[in-house]
Amino acid sequence: MEGKGSILIILFVLYSQSFLCLSQDFDFFYFVQQWPASYCDTRRSCCYPTTGKPNEDFSIHGLWPNYNNGKWPQNCDTTSSLDISQISDLKKRMEKDWVTLACPSGDGMKFWGHEWEKHGTCTSLDEHTYFESALDLKSKANLVQHLKHAGIQPGNFFTMESMKRAIKEGVGYEAYIECNVDTQGNHQIYQVYMCVDKSAKNFIDCPILPSGRGCGSRVEFPSLSHHSGSSHEL
Ligand code: 5GP
Ligand code: 5GP
Repeated sequence: MEGKGSILIILFVLYSQSFLCLSQDFDFFYFVQQWPASYCDTRRSCCYPTTGKPNEDFSIHGLWPNYNNGKWPQNCDTTSSLDISQISDLKKRMEKDWVTLACPSGDGMKFWGHEWEKHGTCTSLDEHTYFESALDLKSKANLVQHLKHAGIQPGNFFTMESMKRAIKEGVGYEAYIECNVDTQGNHQIYQVYMCVDKSAKNFIDCPILPSGRGCGSRVEFPSLSHHSGSSHEL
């Protein structure tokens, strides 16, 4: 009888755990890309990755599951940590397109691990699909090319309207642009949010925009070229 009882308890625990996994539900993703020069232009310190100076290109910050009401789930499985062996074939692409700029310099592993644990564990995607999907979305968005096509190149100021129009025309969907402020007080383009369906493959119109991270009407699109060393911690 005791044996049967324990089996029932074990079955119940297994059942509720599988339910918990399946219940990691959400409505859409924010695919968020950061502009490295803007990360580095603020008063916060920035350090180039140990793998080298980033390209003059957007870099992935994260692929974040979100609810239609603006809230989001996070840290859904505290027992899961990044297993780098599952994404070894993606490492070169990650080093180029998902750079870490936080200090001290790192190879990206810590940043990717953080994103997996905080956001990836709340999706039903496995690690490889999660990271590969984000990399593919970056190529699909191809923001720098679309901005260039519209005459928007780093090192100048542009209107928010022209930037938004260039992205809408190039990608086909509206993006949300978040700004930060450089050391001279200029607003600059910092992160671009795009919405993606639950398959993590297709851009969609955003069900809701992130709140309270707006820009002025004229913003700087800074260049990384004047940043010299591998680190300028303040
Ligand atoms: P911050 O306060 O710098 O805007 O955001 C801090 C962190 O919270 C982000 O890097 C991200 O992990 C998470 N976060 C902020 N805003 C959102 C959001 O609108 N949706 C989701 N899913 N995560 C967010
Ligand atoms: P989130 O804001 O996504 O929750 O957290 C970002 C975390 O990753 C922070 O602890 C931050 O220090 C670290 N991090 C490492 N590299 C980067 C980077 O290049 N950009 C951003 N936004 N955070 C980074």
